[in-house]
Amino acid sequence: MKRKALFLDRDGVINVDFGYVHQPEQCVFVAGIFDLVRQANEAGYAVIVVTNQAGIGRGYYTEAQFVSFMRWMSDRFSQEGATIDRVYHCPHHPDAASGAYRQSCACRKPLPGMLDAARHDFYLDIPASILIGDKQSDMEAGQRAGVGHRLFFGSKDESEILDGALRIDALLDAFSLLKGRSAANG
Ligand SMILES: [Mg+2]
Ligand SMILES: [Zn+2]
Repeated sequence: MKRKALFLDRDGVINVDFGYVHQPEQCVFVAGIFDLVRQANEAGYAVIVVTNQAGIGRGYYTEAQFVSFMRWMSDRFSQEGATIDRVYHCPHHPDAASGAYRQSCACRKPLPGMLDAARHDFYLDIPASILIGDKQSDMEAGQRAGVGHRLFFGSKDESEILDGALRIDALLDAFSLLKGRSAANG
């Protein structure tokens, strides 16, 4: 039996996006995120983070620092009774990164590589899954992967082309979808 996923972009959805956040001192959690993840856990969704982290390729922080920060973040969720099942990240950038990180990879959103990997790893029901992001690139990655419910949680000037995505003004607005009701069209 295939499982549904709640895909979460990280910066701007889980934590406030101050740019290249990679330490606990820089982390301010977005209102409602712990409740949302707890609800998703209870409803049987796999909770999967999909995040572009070109800061690694740019040399702003290392892969090890990223992993250690994400471990801290997962612990914070656990303390709140919520579970993040897996984190997928893309450390690449096609021109701003150096060394092996400088490449046109298949994982950097708006490409669907991370979502495709999760579909395979978790045997996911992608059309029944939900993605929440704050950028057009999140919505586009979700659409290319075939994610059925794409929720845009970003500024209005980012949303000129929503392509079937629904706008939400608060993370709690995604609750109704998790519970099997349709979200209000926004
Ligand atoms: Mg973001
Ligand atoms: Zn990549």
